[in-house]
Formats: sequence, C-alpha cells, structure tokens
Amino acid sequence: MGSSKKKGQQRKAAAKKALSAATVERSVSGLSGDSGSNSNINGGNSNQSKIVAKVKRGNNYATKRLTSGVEEEGFSYEQSGVLSAVLGFLKRCEDETFDQVLSSVGGDLKSPSSWIYILSRGSYIEPSCKLQIAENIGPLVRCMSNDMERLLFKSNKHWREGIVPFVKLISNVMENEDNNSLEDEKIIKTLLQHDDLIRTVVQMGFWDVHRPDIVKELKYEGLVSTDIVRASGILIEMLINGMEGESRIRLLKNIGTTPIVNKEYDSSCMVSYTAELVRGLKTEDQRDVTFQILQLLMREADCIDKDVVTEMIKLGTNAAFTSDYEGAYYVTLLSLRCMYANATNNLSDTRVACTIRAGLIEMCLNFIEHYGEHEFFAGDDDESSSFYNIIGCILQGINNVSLHQKSAKAIRSIPVVNVSLRVARMLLQCQIKLREKTNINNNTKCKELLDMVSSALDINGSYCCRCNKSLSKTKVMQCNGCHRMSYCSRACQKEDWLNGGHKLACCKSYTDEKSGQFQGRIFPVAVPQNERAATKLEELETNLNMVQLKMFLYKSETILSQASSLNIPLYDCVAMFDLTNSLPTVGVVKYTSFYKKPEEKRGFEESRSKDNITCTFCTYFYGGESEDRVTVQRFFPHEWLSKQIK
Ligand SMILES: [Zn+2]
Ligand SMILES: [Zn+2]
Repeated sequence: MGSSKKKGQQRKAAAKKALSAATVERSVSGLSGDSGSNSNINGGNSNQSKIVAKVKRGNNYATKRLTSGVEEEGFSYEQSGVLSAVLGFLKRCEDETFDQVLSSVGGDLKSPSSWIYILSRGSYIEPSCKLQIAENIGPLVRCMSNDMERLLFKSNKHWREGIVPFVKLISNVMENEDNNSLEDEKIIKTLLQHDDLIRTVVQMGFWDVHRPDIVKELKYEGLVSTDIVRASGILIEMLINGMEGESRIRLLKNIGTTPIVNKEYDSSCMVSYTAELVRGLKTEDQRDVTFQILQLLMREADCIDKDVVTEMIKLGTNAAFTSDYEGAYYVTLLSLRCMYANATNNLSDTRVACTIRAGLIEMCLNFIEHYGEHEFFAGDDDESSSFYNIIGCILQGINNVSLHQKSAKAIRSIPVVNVSLRVARMLLQCQIKLREKTNINNNTKCKELLDMVSSALDINGSYCCRCNKSLSKTKVMQCNGCHRMSYCSRACQKEDWLNGGHKLACCKSYTDEKSGQFQGRIFPVAVPQNERAATKLEELETNLNMVQLKMFLYKSETILSQASSLNIPLYDCVAMFDLTNSLPTVGVVKYTSFYKKPEEKRGFEESRSKDNITCTFCTYFYGGESEDRVTVQRFFPHEWLSKQIK
C-alpha cells in the first residue's frame, strides 16, 4: 500500500507509544492530590517506625510523607504493617464516615485519598503487595464504581478526590511484571472479582460525552474529564494484555458488551462498547488503535450484534465517509468479519442477512464507486489484503449464501430497481473508461465486482418452478409432498407433476436406476440429523429450485454452443451449474462423464426422456457443522432453450 501503509504504520507505532503505562502515570499524576514532595523521611529506623505508628493512627503529616514516595531503603509497606492498616481503614468506606474512622484512632488526616495513594505507591514500589491489595479493596471498588451516589466514606467530596488515586491504584496493581505472567494474571483475576470494576473502567471512557453530571463535579476538584477518559482506554488495554486463553475471551466479551453509560443514569442508551468504538472509526484520531481493539473484540470474542453491524454499515454508507480511503478500508474489513459465525467460522445466513439489511451491498457499491480508481485499490505488494479483494470476499460471501432463507429474504427486500440502475450506470462508466484505456487494471476489477453485485441480485427471487413467472408473496403454491417446489398456479403444479417428472421425484430419493428421471437432490443423499439444519437445507432447496429455470434460460446461449462444440445431442448432455464461484458458471459435459458408475450410466440411458436436457445445480450449504455442497438435478425440455434464443 506504499506511502499510505507506511503512514499507517508510523501512526500505529505512535499510538502504541502513547498508550504505554507511562501515560497513565502522566495523565493521572499531577491532576491533584499527589503532592510529589522531594523531602526525605529523615533519621534511622526508629524515626521510620515512629512514622509507621503515626500512619496507623491516621496522622496527617506522617501519611502525607509516605504518599510522597520517599521511603527509606529497606522500607516495606507489607512488613511495616502500613499496608494492612490502610486496607483496614479503606474497608470501612461503605458504612462509616471518614470522621468516624479517624476518631476511632484519633487521627487528623485531611482526606482518605491519601490512603488510596499509599496503596498505589505500595503496589508500585513493592509488587508483592498487589495480591493483598487486589483481594481487599472490594468496598473501595464498590464505592468508586457507584457513579450515581458517588459517595466515599459517605461523602461526595471524598469520592471526587478519590477518582484520580483510584484510577492510578488500579493501573499500578495491574501493571505487568514481565517475569511472572501467571502471578499477574492471578492479580487481574482477583481484581475482576469485584463485579463493577469492568463496567466502571469502560464507562469512565465516555464520561466526557455522556455524563455532564460527573464532568461538573470533577471540575470542582480542578480535574479534566478527558484525562480520565484517556486513562480508561489504557486500563482496558492493560486488562486485555494481562489475560490469556479462555479468561481473556471472557474478559473481551464482557468489555465489548458493556453499555457505555450506566443504565441507572440513562436507561435509553444501551450502546455497547463495541458499537461505540465502531462509531469512533470515523475520526482519524487514534483510529489504528480503535481498529485493533475492534478486531480483538470481533474476532476473538465475537462481539457482533445487530447494533454493531448497523453502526458499521451506517458508517460505510455515510456520504462523508467516501473521501476517507483508510477509514473505508477498515470498515470494509470489519464488515467482512460480521458475515461469519464465530462457532464454526463459516458464513452465517443470519449474519449475512443482518448485514444485507443494514445496507452491505449499497456500502460495497459506494466504495467501488469512490475508490475503484484509487491507486492502491487493487493493492501493490499484497493483493490479498487489497481493498478490491476484501470487497470481492464480501460479494462472494453474499453470492454463496444468497439462496439461504434469511439472506434470500434480505436481498429481496432491497429496493432492487435503485441498486440495479446504479450498477448498470457504473458498469457503463467502466466500459467507457476501458475504451479510453485509463487504468485498465482497475476498470476490469471494478467491472468484476459490479458483476458480482448484479449476480447476487439476479439470482435471487421467487419464480414458478414450471413457468418461471415471478411469484408474489401472497400467491405461492407449494408442493404439499416435499415442500420444495413452488408454483404460480394449480395448473403449473399439475403440469409439473404429470409431465415435468415431479411425481417421480417428490419425496423420493435418488437411485441409480432412476438417474434419468429423478428431479431433486442427488448430493448429499442424507438429510442432516440436526432438525434445524434439515429445515435450513429444505429452505435452501426451495430457493434454489425457484431460480433454476431462470438461470437455465439466462445461460441458454452458452449451453447450446457448448453442446454443439461437443457435437452431441442435447439429451446426452449434462449442464452443470456451479454456484459456488464468485459468479455462477455452467459447463456442459456428456452424461458418461457425469455418471461415473456403470449402474448410473445404464439407469440414465434407460430412464431418461429424449425431450429433456439434464441440469445439475451445485451450491454451498451453511447450516450444519461444516461447509457442505448440495447438488440438485433438474430436467428442462430442449424447446425452452431454443425458444429463448430466436
Ligand atoms: Zn407457473
Ligand atoms: Zn413435491
């Protein structure tokens, strides 16, 4: 991708750097409370033990000294008992006031935030403290997470003062000690046992936009909400990086589905973290980081729901987004992911249908139209990750699943006239440009993609299996026996039953002896065990049956010319339609190369009708455990072919 890629990489590196833990230190230190004094705790051990004793009694001077980070060599928060004393104080933050706690020890400390700073400092200087801290800050986490009441030691002011040291504490406790990742993971898991922590960390990232009440309060303390917002992103990254395997996936899922606003504050805003990140893609600021987190959430934890898909496609069809190549590329890449089911990693009918309804096809057209001529559209060094290829994957996916029930319905709900007109206009432009020979490569690629759009729209539809008349939703007659054939009228149904051979095929499965008159599924012969999959397969066959005649007539010229070059009569031909390619293809062969077994060959010769040509239609079926192929056999009278040509 040349310079834009390089630019992207530079940006990525810069963003990574900006997200290092040091930034938390920077963005939350100096906000308030942390006095950062340089003075020393003078004197020897006796002096130190005096200070420790004073801290345990809630003495202001001694406590502030310790928070300023000038411990003597050999000082231990754990050994000295400071740690357990401070944790003991903070455990009372839900039920008692600060004054009550202080008066129980006769102290004069000004703010409980100093205790939080001591824990933060302790976990930084003495990593062995972390687990004990993580285990014992439940009450503190609950108080700080309650962003509706906002009380710490029953005081709103103390809560406000506590925010920055709290964020810093969580960050310090989570900070990786590279040498012991097991211990680190244990600490993070312990932290996450405090239920509200993830929700709070996520929602802090949106305080500036969604919580004017908190922003106002933070201002009292001279705090800027954007610093907290930034810290939220860093904490999330630390959390994710600190976990592995199953627990990491659970964590990602948890984060990705957390609503960005406390529902007690606004029950109407149920936007998930993932959906909100998608919205964030439209601004260039930190886009690479946003994209990477989205990839994690969507790929690893499958945080894909209707909202996420809708936001994604909304962005991709937004007019303002048509001049932003990089953004468009990211959206396309993530949209492709939205078409796949996480469990099987196969295309999912439900998901593809959801993306189509959200406007996936329109989005692809948008991007072909606006970026088809872009110098990197077809890729330079790596074509597989090119914009052209990603759009191609999406369109091929749509084509492969377009006859499944939900996707078929979704495609039929597209205002096809508008889209077809647009495709036709764009194809025309391509041809004009091709004649002018401007960038032939890009033009043929655009044309290829546009043909795929046309094909998805063309193939889809409901047509009478006998006469190819378009079926309205209300007037479809289905064969009561197999529920796989649809007709426009009783007359067509009767005609197909008596003369079309359906009587022989309905509800009966393929046998070698009947290979020349059997109309139905020949592969796979078995019906899936799973009832849901069996229903899905039946729906697929119904949709496939409705478009066969249309496809047959559409390809009549190709079939006739291939048959004549083989120099065999039409009744000796098998026209094999392959719908598993990016565009449907047809290939004509002599029946002897299609029916391999002698019994099959004999069966065909004995039972066929000389008036018909044999056709097979092969398509993918996504509904079972794996991606399967389904092949269905039909016969069509020759006269239909030649009538079509004229
Ligand atoms: Zn009909
Ligand atoms: Zn039937």
